[in-house]
Amino acid sequence: MSNSVIVGINWGDEGKGRMVDLLTDHYGIVVRFQGGGNAGHTVINEYGKFALHLQPSGVFRPGVLNILGNGVALDMENLSAEIDTVEAKGVRISPENLRISDRASLLLPWHRQLDGLEEARLKDHAYGSTKQGIAPFYSDKYQKKTLLAGELFYPEELKEHLAMLLEWKNMTLERVYGAKPYTMEEMLEWINTYGERIKPYVCDTFSLLHKAQDEGKSVLFEAQLGALRDLDYGIYPYTTSSNSIAAFAPVGSGMPYAKVDEVIGVVKAYSSCVGEGPFTCEWFGDEAEKLREAGGEYGAKTGRPRRVGPIDIVATRYGVKVQGATCIALTKLDVLSYMEKIPVCAHYMLDGKQTDDFPFPAVLPKAQPVTEYMEGWSCDISGARRWEDLPEAARRYVEYIEAQIGCRIKYVSVGPERDAYIERF
Ligand code: GDP
Repeated sequence: MSNSVIVGINWGDEGKGRMVDLLTDHYGIVVRFQGGGNAGHTVINEYGKFALHLQPSGVFRPGVLNILGNGVALDMENLSAEIDTVEAKGVRISPENLRISDRASLLLPWHRQLDGLEEARLKDHAYGSTKQGIAPFYSDKYQKKTLLAGELFYPEELKEHLAMLLEWKNMTLERVYGAKPYTMEEMLEWINTYGERIKPYVCDTFSLLHKAQDEGKSVLFEAQLGALRDLDYGIYPYTTSSNSIAAFAPVGSGMPYAKVDEVIGVVKAYSSCVGEGPFTCEWFGDEAEKLREAGGEYGAKTGRPRRVGPIDIVATRYGVKVQGATCIALTKLDVLSYMEKIPVCAHYMLDGKQTDDFPFPAVLPKAQPVTEYMEGWSCDISGARRWEDLPEAARRYVEYIEAQIGCRIKYVSVGPERDAYIERF
C-alpha cells in the first residue's frame, strides 16, 4: 500500500488529468482535495475527450472509487451537469464509484455572482478569475459561513442555518454591490433541485477512507492547478484561493493522518499560464501563436487562449521544492518537435543581477528572463515508447531539465493518448 499525490509544479494545465488517468490503474481510490469548477483536467481515453472540472480523473476506471474531499468547493450545479456529460458518453457514475465528503462545503449561487461583481468592480485590476465563485466561496468557508454537504440530510437544521447566511449575504450584495438580494424560496429551490441529485453520493468519507487504508488500499490524491497558484506559496495575489500543494492533500482529502509516499510533480516541456499575474518567461506575437497552436493551449474551462513561453527553470525548481516532488512527469515533449532550437528560460535578471531564486511576489513583475537555447530534434517523437526511441537531442533536453530542477523525471509524455508515454525507471 502506498499513497501518492499528483500535483502541478507550475501555473496549472501541466497535464495532471492525463497522468491521473494513466496511473489510477495502480490505486483503488482517487481523491480530489481542493479547488472547484474553476479549472479543468483534460482526459482522452476510449470513451472520448473530457474536460473534468470537479470529478476526479479516476471515474473512467472500473473498480476505482473516486472521492471529492472536504477541501473542495462543492458546486452541486456544475457537478450535476458534469455527471450528465460523462454519462452521455457511456461512463456510469453511481455511489459505487463516486463519493462526496459530508464535510465538503457547498458553493452557492451567490458565490458565483459575487465573483463576477468583484471582477467587474476591479476593472483593469481584475485577477482574471474564471468567475466560478471560488474566491468568495473560500472566504466564506474560512469565515464559517457556508453549508456543509452533510446538512442536506437535516432539512430543518439546514433551513435555519441558511436563513442566517442569507441575511448576512444579502447585506453584502445589496449594500456593497447594489445587487438584487436572494430570497429564501429561490435558495431552497436551488438547494432542493441539486441537493436531491447529489445527496446519494454524500457520506462520511473520513471513516470510509480510514477503513480502506486499514484494508490496504492505496490512495491517489489529485490536485488542481499548480504550485505557483497555491494560496500560500504562489504568486499572490494571482493565486487561487485554496492550497494546491501536496502538503495539503491529506487535510483536504479526509485523511489528515496520512503519510504521502510519493509526490509526482507534473511539468510541461514548455510553459503556459491562464489569467493575470507575472509570467516572466512569456512570449508574445508570432512565436507565441505558433507554440499556442502546436500545444493547443486554450483553457479547458473558458476556451481562453493561454499565455505561453519556454520552460521556466527558475519557477520550476521552486515549484519542485514547494511540492516536495519525489519524481516528475514531463508532458507534451512532442509539442516542441517543430522547433529547430529549443529555448529555455534558464535564469532571471532582477535589479541588474542574475538570479536562480524565485523572487518574492511583490518584485516578481520586475524579473526578466535569461533565455538559452538547446539543439532541437526536428522529427516526430509521438511514437516513442522507450527512452532509447527518443532522438539524442530530446533525451539531452530531458536530462538538462532534470539536472536543473534537482528531481528525477520518471515519465515522459509524448502525446495525449493514454499509452503515449515513456516510463524511465
Ligand atoms: P491539467 O489541468 O493539468 O490536467 O491540464 P490540461 O487540462 O490543460 O491538459 C493538458 C492538455 O494537454 C490536454 O488537452 C491533454 O490531452 C494534452 N496532453 C497531455 N499530455 C500531452 C502530451 O504529452 N502531448 C500532447 N500533445 N498533449 C498532451
